Amino acid sequence: MTDMIVPSRMIGIVSLAVLMFGAGAGIGLLAQPAGRANSVPTRADGTCPPGTTEVRPGRCQAPEVPPPSILDYRPRSTLVTAEHLVPKAKFPVVDIHSHTGPTPETIDRLLGEMDALNLRVLVNLSGGSDPAAIKQKVDYIRSTPHADRFRVFANVNFDGAGAPGWAEKAVADLEASVRNGAIGLKIYKSLGLTTKKADGTRLKVDDPVLAPVWDACARLDIPVIIHSAEPKEFFSPFDYENERWLELALFPSRRNFSPGQPSFEEVQAERDRMFAAHPKTRFIGAHFAYYGHDLARAGALLDRLPNVTLEVSAVLYEFGRQPRAAREFFLEYQDRILFGKDSYQPQEYPYYWRVFETADEYFDYYRDYHAFWKLYGMDLPDEVLKKVYYKNALRVTPGLPRAGWPD
Ligand SMILES: [Zn+2]
Repeated sequence: MTDMIVPSRMIGIVSLAVLMFGAGAGIGLLAQPAGRANSVPTRADGTCPPGTTEVRPGRCQAPEVPPPSILDYRPRSTLVTAEHLVPKAKFPVVDIHSHTGPTPETIDRLLGEMDALNLRVLVNLSGGSDPAAIKQKVDYIRSTPHADRFRVFANVNFDGAGAPGWAEKAVADLEASVRNGAIGLKIYKSLGLTTKKADGTRLKVDDPVLAPVWDACARLDIPVIIHSAEPKEFFSPFDYENERWLELALFPSRRNFSPGQPSFEEVQAERDRMFAAHPKTRFIGAHFAYYGHDLARAGALLDRLPNVTLEVSAVLYEFGRQPRAAREFFLEYQDRILFGKDSYQPQEYPYYWRVFETADEYFDYYRDYHAFWKLYGMDLPDEVLKKVYYKNALRVTPGLPRAGWPD
């Protein structure tokens, strides 16, 4: 706002544009009031031409001044409503989806941050596919007085998948990693999107060459946390109707809609078939298996496959924009949802606590480019919070610390 002073008797004749943008913007005092004077009809499909917005049914108009870009339009909310910030989770939390683990240089800082958030266990999913790399990480954790605060998952090396001997080596490495202290297996999103088989074709999530790995996880009694696909809009045309336009504009590697790339439905279907084909293996669908935008589908998946649970990292904006449906879902499937954050940013966890624990309304999300909308709290009951924060993780992941949890 400018510091321009307008005598009160004049306000009625000064256009809104002058008040908003200042006389310096070159707007005449006799500008037309908002209305139909400069409007054009909607197009045949009922939408407005580019650069205009619907001002009356069937009529579209351009702003009188150049509109800001979506980067620069940052409206302040005038809503006055109760605010309940939640810097520390109400119950201790297992973060089942992190890529951070302690080093001698970082452990004191990490513990301080974790204590402030009530984050009791941080699970580093980036353990690596080399059993020696797992051993190094686990040995360090066990050498500290804080061995119950950190855990490590192993990964699989897909180079040469499908070639003779690949599966035997992958399973042997996984067994050695578990002996060295890994408590689960993490599969990255590259499987299904970019990973190639030895013969050069795309390695599909449900390719039978992977079956020995999934079966080994059942035998070893460890869960598989799997990131498949990406948000649905990452597979859609990169146009002005795409609700992730800004993110796709910022990060070219997230564009998954080129010819020859698998579709969202293809990758999701491959993963869900693989879940069904290995009922004895426990699978955790990272990022809510990317069904957070369609909770009916998420529910159908859980109804059909008792070996599957879902994890909430990086999709908080899906729950926060449909707090009533999300609350119902969390109540109905309270035994099937785990907490995870993915990117370790201490200042971002409290947004999760606030969405899950409060009934606050219309508050900011932490990344504008993820979501142009505001969040609302789900007001979850204590018993559901405990299950999401740690009880479900403890059931699915036997290698987590067992002692010291509230009932
Ligand atoms: Zn991750």
